Amino acid sequence: MPMVKISKYNIAFRLRENTYILYNTLYNSISKVDFELLEAMLKGNLEDIPQDIRSKLYNFGFLVDDELEELNIIKTMHNFEISKLYSAFRVGLTLTMTYACNLKCPYCYEGNLTQKADFLSKKDIDIILKFALNHQKYFPIKRNPSIDVSFYGGEPLLNWKCCKYTLESLEALKRKGEIEDYTAGFVTNGTLINMDVIDAINDFNIVSMQITLDGPKEIHDKRRITRTVKGHLTL
Ligand code: SF4
Repeated sequence: MPMVKISKYNIAFRLRENTYILYNTLYNSISKVDFELLEAMLKGNLEDIPQDIRSKLYNFGFLVDDELEELNIIKTMHNFEISKLYSAFRVGLTLTMTYACNLKCPYCYEGNLTQKADFLSKKDIDIILKFALNHQKYFPIKRNPSIDVSFYGGEPLLNWKCCKYTLESLEALKRKGEIEDYTAGFVTNGTLINMDVIDAINDFNIVSMQITLDGPKEIHDKRRITRTVKGHLTL
């Protein structure tokens, strides 16, 4: 083992009599230690610590190479995070297009909301996209964002008109260079997917269709009931 010193980023909490929690904020390591060990570390008496325990403390970052300048690690991590921000400035939007749904699953957490619900309008979408475009002003880095949209509900395809309007708007923003790029995805019960939706999958950057199923047909049909018919797979 190389020459070692105590990490500057160790902190200790008393758990109970003679038992302490040692936490290293730089390496995110945690360990339970007794007072004798903690005292040896605090006093810098590393030679009093048995070799096998010293190796473990070294492996988890509680002890570090004598030469190591730990602040440099933090500076490197900081620069890495900043470079990530530069390389991909993304804004994620989950759009609840409506709480309405054509199914009536008994476990639905949206309950009565699925029966009498509003729909997002084109005007709402304009406001939301404007917000996404302006979002960068809260960050130190000024560059056009990429926008990731997830269409959610209720059943989002009940408001297909507005989903399509959103996709067209994103495409137009990309063409005008106001956004770097966009992706879109749907969380849907799948019952309303038609040729228009399939064409859109080809025409726009729709990267996922998450279709919810409750297992094989016999089980699914008992649970995913429509408002008027028994199971939607039987339709
Ligand atoms: S499909 Fe989803 S939103 Fe619709 S009733 Fe079932 S759980 Fe609720």
